[in-house]
Amino acid sequence: MTVTSIDELTGLYDRKAFLKLLSGQVKDANTYKSKVALLIVDINRFYRINNLFGYEAGDEILKKTALVLRNVIRDQDCVARIGDNRFALILAGVMNVGHAELAGHKILRLLQAPFLLGEKKITVDCTIGISLCPLHASNPMFLMKECESVLHGAKDRNIKIGISETLEDEEIPDDWDIELALDDALDKDQLSIHYQPKIALDSGGVVGVEALLRWNHPTRGFIPPNYFIPLAERMGHIKPITNWIFNTALRQGSEWTDKWGPLSIAVNIPPDFILMPDLKDLIANAISLWGSDRVSLTLEIIERSLVLEPEKSMLILKELQDMDISISIDDFGTGYSSLSYFENLPVDELKIDQSFVTNVVTSTSNQNIVKLIVDLAHAFDMEVVAEGVEDRDALAFLKTIKCDLAQGYYFAKPMPHEQIKSWLENFTGTK
Ligand code: C2E
Ligand code: CA
Ligand code: CA
Repeated sequence: MTVTSIDELTGLYDRKAFLKLLSGQVKDANTYKSKVALLIVDINRFYRINNLFGYEAGDEILKKTALVLRNVIRDQDCVARIGDNRFALILAGVMNVGHAELAGHKILRLLQAPFLLGEKKITVDCTIGISLCPLHASNPMFLMKECESVLHGAKDRNIKIGISETLEDEEIPDDWDIELALDDALDKDQLSIHYQPKIALDSGGVVGVEALLRWNHPTRGFIPPNYFIPLAERMGHIKPITNWIFNTALRQGSEWTDKWGPLSIAVNIPPDFILMPDLKDLIANAISLWGSDRVSLTLEIIERSLVLEPEKSMLILKELQDMDISISIDDFGTGYSSLSYFENLPVDELKIDQSFVTNVVTSTSNQNIVKLIVDLAHAFDMEVVAEGVEDRDALAFLKTIKCDLAQGYYFAKPMPHEQIKSWLENFTGTK
């Protein structure tokens, strides 16, 4: 297979090409019982370089970083730029974790030397995540998620290299084991919900939370929802799981008190749920059991859920709104909505996809897109939420363009029931 998608700036593979290459390498590692390492290298606070030295300097730094990484790898390895300031390397045929860790240290050492741009000396600060296939995951998507999660963990703990925890070889379940385990995850009480607050930018107060599903696998530990939810959908478990989420989220939410007023609890709805004949009954039942005047329900749906049968979907959304349920369009900006479609859309809220928000400060095109979505939402009397707000600068920008709500690591990460309860009690607002 020839891979042709290249990142224009650095000449490295882009994310799309990288994911294809990773799939191939993971397949080979599984077939030939070898090991492959994934390293994700993130330049910390890259926006500062752009702010202090200008975008051209930022571009130069990215090009020079690419060159350093290109020189580290061997012929059988590959390197790509998978995000604005994020690179990834696949090291084929590594012997063990230590081998990959050595490569990580070498990269850090080489990147520590200041880059010379004319008269200026610029130093970059990086964090690296490392995961191995099949030691930490035997599927490319899972490997990426795992590596991103150790990278974020390392950033949180302010260390330079995060490495996935190694289980004993015999404990590592393959995907078949995971499917089997998912079969009774609900019965065995391994699922839980984490809640992430949504903040109103004018008052600085909390207006709601998003419920995000977590699966604590007995040997594998925490498994990310992006991995097991598609699996649960394929295996037909998503309906009982979502029903459990409605009930659990409303029950737990009714125990919280929030000094900012009533809270809305947002539940993510799988794409084909909207057309499910008993959706209204499931929700009405959960509300009658656990509803209170302190919590209301919001459904987060992605645009794709509405395209199959748009007219029927509109009617259903309208009926749900009549039950005092708010409708939010998730990951907005990644689908194909047309303006005419908006006119009659029974929707209360748009959630701008985090890919536009997280790097909004450094990307003018993202700034334009985010502003466009805010204006569009307001033109149709909808509220707009920016998700993936990770720093103060992004927040400041969102305030200037009158975005209504924000959600992201800058305010709080998703947290378990007990923790959000006390977080809500102690939160004094963000201004
Ligand atoms: P989503 O609905 O777009 O959820 C937002 C994701 O962004 C969450 O990941 C959240 O933890 C993460 N996030 C929040 N703030 C930040 C930030 O500042 N920076 C970054 N980098 N990430 C941030 P999570 O919990 O891993 O969920 C991933 C996806 O899995 C969700 O994307 C949603 O599509 C799906 N999902 C999660 N829970 C459920 C559920 O209960 N039901 C269904 N059907 N899908 C779910
Ligand atoms: Ca969501
Ligand atoms: Ca989203």
